Amino acid sequence: MSDPTNVLALEHRRLRIGDAWRDAAGGATFAVEDPATGTTIAEVADADVVDGLAALDAASGAAAEWATTPPRKRSELLTATYRALTGRSEEIARLITLEMGKPLTEARAEVAYGAEFFRWFAEEAVRVEGRYSTAPAGGYRILTVPKPVGPCVLVTPWNFPLAMGARKIAPALAAGCTTITKPAAQTPLTMLLLARIMEEVGVPPGVVNVVTTKRAGRVVGALLADSRTRKLSFTGSTEVGRVLLRQAADNVLRTSMELGGNAALIVCADADLDVAVDGAMVAKMRNIGESCVAANRIYVEEPVREEFTARFAERMGALSMGPGLDDGVDVGALIDEASVTTIDELVADAVDRGARVLVGGERPDGPGHFYPPTVLVNVPEDARMLKAEIFGPVAPIISFASDDEVLARANDTEHGLVGYVFTRDLQRALRFAEGLDTGMIGINRGLISDPSAPFGGVKQSGLGKEGAHEGILEYLDLTYAAIDLP
Ligand code: NAD
Repeated sequence: MSDPTNVLALEHRRLRIGDAWRDAAGGATFAVEDPATGTTIAEVADADVVDGLAALDAASGAAAEWATTPPRKRSELLTATYRALTGRSEEIARLITLEMGKPLTEARAEVAYGAEFFRWFAEEAVRVEGRYSTAPAGGYRILTVPKPVGPCVLVTPWNFPLAMGARKIAPALAAGCTTITKPAAQTPLTMLLLARIMEEVGVPPGVVNVVTTKRAGRVVGALLADSRTRKLSFTGSTEVGRVLLRQAADNVLRTSMELGGNAALIVCADADLDVAVDGAMVAKMRNIGESCVAANRIYVEEPVREEFTARFAERMGALSMGPGLDDGVDVGALIDEASVTTIDELVADAVDRGARVLVGGERPDGPGHFYPPTVLVNVPEDARMLKAEIFGPVAPIISFASDDEVLARANDTEHGLVGYVFTRDLQRALRFAEGLDTGMIGINRGLISDPSAPFGGVKQSGLGKEGAHEGILEYLDLTYAAIDLP
């Protein structure tokens, strides 16, 4: 089988700065690992502050020309990126699987999802509009003019190595902003490949810069401290998001923060259980549970608890675990050993407090960072996994007796990204939709991510939206002109 890292020639494992692919100034590199085997698959450049600032030189140098490039031209380059990603889906998917661990089927779905952001924002690029109106008292007119915010620093996580970057780069470019992306150190290769593809389709130098580094705090800190940076868009943990918000305050940056989640999935007694089990499988197991929108707590109304649990546990137990590149694998390796240890500890904690394991729960021996699909019942409210993001294939099932009770428990978290409810009663669904303190809700659906919908959380799950028309507004400032006209 061909080695998917070959798609990246050695020069493209370097930093993408301006028109160059270059080593880190100090010559440092770091290793990227295949989580399914624990072996090193590539060495990439390990940037320091001087490299980050060189990328900012490039991004600010290209900003004025890109901002005035005709929207149709910017749109066409985004469309070309969409086509290139779609045409090269298989090799990109293999690279995602190799560095991140998810099964190939999921990696292919990520390529389709990530590519779609370029198509969507190619369509938005030519629809950026201002307003013209008469002041209510008369005497003058009001004109609003949207303008690109300027150079953007984009910091992305490892769980969707392509899509989390695509969700930022596409609207930034559509709006006329230049970018510096700092991908997660676990999964830099896919972002480097995206930069390569964007170079090939003709995106001008300086518009898409990529800085890979193990020294995220130093490099991103320096970028945020430089007044040429005008925007930070971050996807990652709430913990790191808080740190970056504090740093962004010094230069009063525009920020978009897509942070952690702790989604409740609620199955009502009147739900269609076929739909609920399918939905719970997607909401829990998409991306091996390593997703901010993963169902973290599954609340089932008492009359259907037994039947739902039996059917869900059977489906979870039937999933096959193995290296993501192998045929027929449903559950690939987790990102690293620390992640497996955290999940193992969360399961042990729940069991210590009285939970019972129905499926899985045993960390396997052998190479790679695997943890099996696991279902727990009788999980007490004080179990740590009900408060923390599990970020893996573990499903705690908890029963509930009334809607008010489950709503209060679902909302008892600092997070507010997404919730899911399964019911055939429209009024009940709407009461949950209004009552859940979340930015998104899936009603009889376990999959909500869609480039044409506004993705984002409330409370400590974040600020701002990605995707949809709202997504481009995050990269636009609005100037208002008062025009004297008696
Ligand atoms: P993380 O917060 O550890 O890292 C995210 C990114 O921030 C990485 O690129 C990392 O290198 C960088 N980083 C870490 N410390 C930094 C610092 N001090 N300064 C600057 N950059 C720093 O998160 P992760 O483990 O990569 O990803 C998992 C987290 O991401 C989960 O909490 C998940 O819920 C969240 N996430 C949220 C969304 C969303 O849309 N809301 C989507 C995907 C993932």
